[in-house]
Amino acid sequence: MDEMVPKLFGTSGIRGKIDEEITLDLITDIGMAAATYIGGKGRKIVIGYDTRTSNKMVESAITAGIVRCGSDVIRLGMVPTPLVGYAAMELKADLGIMITASHNPPEYNGIKLWNPTGMAYTQDQERTIEKIVHEKSFYKASWENIGNIEDNDSVVHDYMDDLLDNVDINGNLKVIVDCANGAGSYISPMVLRKAGCEVITLNCQPDGYFPGRMPEPSPANLSELMKVVKATGADLGIAHDGDADRMVAIDDNGMMADFDKLLALVSSNIGGKIVTTVDASFGVDKCMEKVGGEVVRTKVGDVHVAEVIVESNASFGGEPSGTWLHPDFCMCPDGILSALKIIEIVEKNGPLSMLLDQIPSYPTIREKIKCENIQKTLIMEKVKEELPDYFNDLSDVNFIDGVRISMKDGSWVLIRPSGTEAYIRITLEGKNMEKAEKIRDISRTFIEGIL
Ligand code: MG
Repeated sequence: MDEMVPKLFGTSGIRGKIDEEITLDLITDIGMAAATYIGGKGRKIVIGYDTRTSNKMVESAITAGIVRCGSDVIRLGMVPTPLVGYAAMELKADLGIMITASHNPPEYNGIKLWNPTGMAYTQDQERTIEKIVHEKSFYKASWENIGNIEDNDSVVHDYMDDLLDNVDINGNLKVIVDCANGAGSYISPMVLRKAGCEVITLNCQPDGYFPGRMPEPSPANLSELMKVVKATGADLGIAHDGDADRMVAIDDNGMMADFDKLLALVSSNIGGKIVTTVDASFGVDKCMEKVGGEVVRTKVGDVHVAEVIVESNASFGGEPSGTWLHPDFCMCPDGILSALKIIEIVEKNGPLSMLLDQIPSYPTIREKIKCENIQKTLIMEKVKEELPDYFNDLSDVNFIDGVRISMKDGSWVLIRPSGTEAYIRITLEGKNMEKAEKIRDISRTFIEGIL
């Protein structure tokens, strides 16, 4: 693809501050490019948005661009991202568009595109959209061929029914749900209640200022939820990010569930072949070994997980961040279905804290080193060529994403440049804390020596 075409899409769609990176002109151009890409007249696009203050403005601008190029728009209104993926599939649309900046602060917004299977647009598809925007080679619809705009408020009911058909829950758990005042606010608690759970809601009034907590489901932002789980004696806490494609869990002691352990737990319960990223814990492999399953590793990013699920015909895929894909349901990551799966497992097998305790883990360290974007390539070249020599019990080095060095005792370290920020990330697990710190020190000193 043409090097001269400016990049608009990052690791998860187009994202930026409204009116700065994300201007109305750009949004309208994206609408025109998207309609052009799928063939213009006679095609249809479903659109949803999260709770941000700029959402209806962005929806109006992108809709104007789409109908100008002859495609029809079906508006879903304020919905979680997974419902856009589901609606694209269910309503046989040619494209799904979600207007969201996911877990970013309130002044941000963004656009993410979805295939008719519910799968996120691949990098190749995104590059093609960028090229159409750059060249302004838009489909031209005459006045009598301008697209239609209609609303759909029924597909949400099919979505909720289908979600519940996908799990086997009796509904005897008490669950606290924290939606960050984001797009999951109505639907997530409603689905959990329909499943029979006793639900207490926290931050489930849609509000684009995110007054309850910021939409990133990080430990710092979830202290209130942890307290409420403990104080009410609940079985489980569930927190979503701003668009509810992600989920994190709080255990029955009010502690945030370790991301990797939770992923290992759900993977081994689903079994078969599962896909995860190179930065996920070896605990996932250990748990899958026990149930005779198989783990396929991929690059970091939910679209890479989705692509490898399709290629390898896997039954489940997930990133440690809590972005999980359930391909039997839809190819779009779904934080609400992920919550239901955890509830199903806890109901059948016992308290979450106990289940997580049974999962093997090594001490984990995640660090980032400040590094200007222009230096990243040079540093990664050196890491690839020289860093493995610093470890005397090397067992394997792979380059699926960054450089992942494995040692004979199961310890490993992954060095990769951040796709969105000026950092090099170091992720590692050591057989014990001493080993983990040693690996960290070797890696950090090596990288800082080049900077
Ligand atoms: Mg998200």
